[in-house]
Amino acid sequence: MIDLHLHSIYSDGTSTPKELVEQGVRLGLRAIALTDHDTVNGIDELSAAAKEQRMDFIPGVELSAGTFSLRKDHQKEVHILGYFPRWDDKLKSALEPLRQVQSWREERNRSIVEKLRSYHVPVTYEELVELAGSNNVGRPHFAHWLIENGYAHTVSEAFQQFLTPDALTFTERKTFDIAGSIDLIRSAGGVAVLAHPKALHIFSDDDFENFLKGMVDKGLEGIEVYCSVHLPADIRRYERMAQKFNLIMTGGTDFHGKMKPDIRMGYGFGYTRVDDSVYDKLKAKLDSKKQ
Ligand code: AMP
Ligand code: FE
Ligand code: FE
Ligand code: ZN
Repeated sequence: MIDLHLHSIYSDGTSTPKELVEQGVRLGLRAIALTDHDTVNGIDELSAAAKEQRMDFIPGVELSAGTFSLRKDHQKEVHILGYFPRWDDKLKSALEPLRQVQSWREERNRSIVEKLRSYHVPVTYEELVELAGSNNVGRPHFAHWLIENGYAHTVSEAFQQFLTPDALTFTERKTFDIAGSIDLIRSAGGVAVLAHPKALHIFSDDDFENFLKGMVDKGLEGIEVYCSVHLPADIRRYERMAQKFNLIMTGGTDFHGKMKPDIRMGYGFGYTRVDDSVYDKLKAKLDSKKQ
């Protein structure tokens, strides 16, 4: 078993990269990948811990690539995973543009803080950084602050009231678009993979194939077939899509620790398992890209 979609304290997870490796060893996982939102700041720590525990790992990232809209009442965030053949200085410098994404994120966060404060919700940016355990604050951290301070009962209520595009206190975050995100991953020598496709809510096969074809034309090479939110019928659907577009299939749970307490590493909501063979195939693809 493997898990190729994990978040750490460097984005909106609650485990350190070292804890992820240790937990992976306890679960008997053969390999893991760290895929924090828009940052590789946790990979040095992951690499050191993985070496110590002799566990295989893949350096990764999950990029927000703007939104996709099928109709007027449909608007979904596109997330693209990047997996890389090795962790070295060359990769680090190729991924320097992620600093821009970090500063867009900080601008957006400070703007949401201002708007919340103007509605008499006395949050500060510093409290969010403290809650997040890093500078990479995300909306899930806002949601948890709002719950802890009595402004919402649940994460989805916090989002609905304060953090979705309809909310008065929301501010859109600038990101690279789909083409820009795929280019960034590929120019760093990585494989670009569409994350949790079910979350796009594209229910017709024709619509989904059109969308996917657009991404493949831009350089997409994989699709996350196995993940927590995919039921067996979804897995069959995305396996079929992968075959049709000759995409590599990847899988992981999107583990966030206490930020999403229902998702367990390795098992998702309980019924997810990602086979070792998925790792072998991705690894072979990544090796073929090494210059
Ligand atoms: P950010 O990258 O800071 O804009 O936050 C995006 C993250 O918020 C996503 O990765 C989701 O995990 C989470 N999210 C987005 N919309 C919702 C929602 N309606 N309910 C719960 N979580 C959400
Ligand atoms: Fe997240
Ligand atoms: Fe995601
Ligand atoms: Zn994720």
